[in-house]
Amino acid sequence: MITGKNFIGNTPSAKATDHLTAINPATGEVLEGAFAIATQEEIAEATALAQSAATSFSQVSAKERAAFLNAIADEIMALGDELIQRAMAESALPEGRITGERGRTCNQLKAFASLLEEGSFVNATIDTAIPDRQPLPKVDLRKMDIPLGPVAVFGASNFPLAFSTAGGDTASALAAGCPVIVKGHESHLGTNELVSSAILKAAEKTGMPNGVFSMVNGGVEVGQALVTNPSIQAVGFTGSYRGGKAIFDEAAKREQPIPVYAEMGSTNPVLLLEEKLNTSAEALAEQLAGSVTLGVGQFCTNPGLIIGIESDALNTFSQALGKALAAAAPATMLNKGIADVYAATSSTLANEAGVTTLAAKQTTSGNQASPLAMEVSGDTFLANPKLHQEVFGPFTLLVKCSSSTQMSEVVAKLEGQLTGTVMATENDLASNGDIIQALQNKVGRILFNGVPTGVEVCPSMHHGGPFPSTTNPKYTSVGTDAIHRFMRPICYQSWPQAALPDALKNDNPLGIWRTVDGDFTNKPIS
Ligand code: NAP
Repeated sequence: MITGKNFIGNTPSAKATDHLTAINPATGEVLEGAFAIATQEEIAEATALAQSAATSFSQVSAKERAAFLNAIADEIMALGDELIQRAMAESALPEGRITGERGRTCNQLKAFASLLEEGSFVNATIDTAIPDRQPLPKVDLRKMDIPLGPVAVFGASNFPLAFSTAGGDTASALAAGCPVIVKGHESHLGTNELVSSAILKAAEKTGMPNGVFSMVNGGVEVGQALVTNPSIQAVGFTGSYRGGKAIFDEAAKREQPIPVYAEMGSTNPVLLLEEKLNTSAEALAEQLAGSVTLGVGQFCTNPGLIIGIESDALNTFSQALGKALAAAAPATMLNKGIADVYAATSSTLANEAGVTTLAAKQTTSGNQASPLAMEVSGDTFLANPKLHQEVFGPFTLLVKCSSSTQMSEVVAKLEGQLTGTVMATENDLASNGDIIQALQNKVGRILFNGVPTGVEVCPSMHHGGPFPSTTNPKYTSVGTDAIHRFMRPICYQSWPQAALPDALKNDNPLGIWRTVDGDFTNKPIS
């Protein structure tokens, strides 16, 4: 089944002699398949095909695009156990996690399909003409969102299915009506090929134009060639700050700069407020240790920073946190690169002045990570920017502030975050309004007495946040609102009815909800 070829539209292609191989991070075994690195010629072919497919794909009705997305979900399920086994072998993630992620991937595709079937996602807004308005007549103006054009998608290492080849970026771009070219992640090359073949089968079965989807393998050079190709009109990315920022900068330097929606992770601060801590120190430590170690800590929402005010209860919390993490077994990370970076960054932090280790490093083998917690004073944290950086893995840093004033200073010093969590009673909320407001200003999602890992896929989810957690704080990469990243508004002025898109016609043939002269309605305009 695994061919190692790129897909230039629906044509398998392997023009290069250079190959990548897939490695099982748990055993070091080289897995089946030699994956041809895409040549510049193949990238040019894929982007040209995407550009030529863009016009016809943008005219495919929303209902037909919905059928395409549903068919992708069906074809992914039809891959059966082969997909599950390959993703497990390439990621060291357990079967339950991969099966769950496949379900999430298919549900995401189906959620976008439902959005398309309902139809209001185009944000139709109509202001009818007022010819006798004084002193000047008002023209007829009708606005809706249309697709941006071909999108390059970079999958994440930590979600081989749900944030990768057919993950949220691809699903939302295809839903928007944009052809997609995926740059396969080197961490799960076989999974990527299997899922790509499912997308292409679905495209063929539902009559989508050739070029609606392509997939190229390769490293940074292939990624850069995609981002700088003039046919590409937007980028979806999930991964490191280094990778996301490099791609953002390349895109900004183009003759025609394009939007890059990069989700680059964060430390996800958790505030422990006084009354809550006094009553639940040990339970909070257990809860947070479970979140820190979930998925070997390889989540962009991992609670990597915990902030409290010095007290006996905080000491009880830190001891219990250290104990819980010391009792959690080491586990294999997604790949050697991630395991090496985890080992290096956590040991660098351990050697910084003023850092105390709460859970000693356990003996590990291969690409395993040992769960770790460290603590510092508020003064040390405020003085050392290295302590503010994300450590990707089962790690958290406890900051012990001298007072609530210092807790405010620590929050004010934080960079933009995907999430922030407040562990509090309602009395705590009432007496810490300023700190909570300061946290709100830094994050995309704010939680009350919960853990940030676990990102629900639904319309009200916002998985994004101020820079550097993402390159655009206005948009989410999870949930159906992600579609808006790949669309832009167009306004039709004084156009004849017959020539308007259906979404903007007076008789509202799609029956969608629109804003007409200030009213939100699904009625025709009489
Ligand atoms: P990554 O290194 O940023 O890579 C993500 C994708 O971008 C890969 O396909 C990679 O290509 C490509 N890429 C990286 N730098 C590039 C550049 N300068 N130009 C063009 N393409 C580039 O992320 P990762 O492999 O998923 O994990 C590495 C680190 O990222 C982790 O240690 C962690 O710190 C962070 N991370 C964050 C998140 C998050 O949710 N935000 C998720 C996972 C990981 P290659 O395949 O050739 O490397």
